[in-house]
Amino acid sequence: MSWRGAVLTLFPAMFPGPLGQSLAGRALATGLWALDVTNIRDFARDRHRTVDDTPFGGGAGMVLRPDIADAAVASVADDRPVICLTPRGQRFTQADARRFAAGPGLILLCGRYEGIDQRVIEARAMHEYSIGDYVLSGGELAALVLLDSIVRLLPDVMGAADSAAEESFSSGLLEYPHYTRPAEWQGRRVPEVLISGHHAAVAAWRQTESERITRERRPDLWAAPASPTHPASATSS
Ligand code: SAH
Repeated sequence: MSWRGAVLTLFPAMFPGPLGQSLAGRALATGLWALDVTNIRDFARDRHRTVDDTPFGGGAGMVLRPDIADAAVASVADDRPVICLTPRGQRFTQADARRFAAGPGLILLCGRYEGIDQRVIEARAMHEYSIGDYVLSGGELAALVLLDSIVRLLPDVMGAADSAAEESFSSGLLEYPHYTRPAEWQGRRVPEVLISGHHAAVAAWRQTESERITRERRPDLWAAPASPTHPASATSS
């Protein structure tokens, strides 16, 4: 059984969108993963196909009704985790992507307007995730971000089997800089060590660069060891 994503949205035409291209798109076409897209509006019951209503307590905007959202979730629910995209949620990380890639798939509920009635989030034991500290107009782009980060980790989706292991965040560090031909461009030469053919020296240079970049750009990552290979965790024990 291949990994299966389900998206519940008011804008189904946004899918697969960018995930129909490149590596994810090829993997989707060849069945390495699957995506079911459900229009929440199909579960409206009145003749105006209403899915939202005004918030109790007043205030601006509209709220997705719990009964409608619940019926949409029920139409796809199985053993997969159900995730709700919201700026209030836990920050989604590479560790989450790895964990979900190892599972059977994911059900993703995309909010619109002000958000989703809290009761259905609780009743369906949804985990709330955010993709960052900014407000999107809907959960669709966030769902695409989650799916992209997960799908590229599935077996056989990426070209080189081990390229995921060395990337930013995998070791708790940001990635070292990359260079390709030409060896000199606009007077800028690639670091000599990279053309030395000395594999151990290359590895050492990359490790040093990763550590420097992480220290400079992300003191938070540097201070919070994410894995036993992180140098900060080796020295702190
Ligand atoms: N009133 C809400 C914002 C609603 S934005 C608030 O102040 O928190 C509308 C929808 O976009 C949300 O229901 C959510 O599904 C989605 N969304 C917006 N920003 C997001 C983010 N950073 N991460 C994940 N989903 C987001």
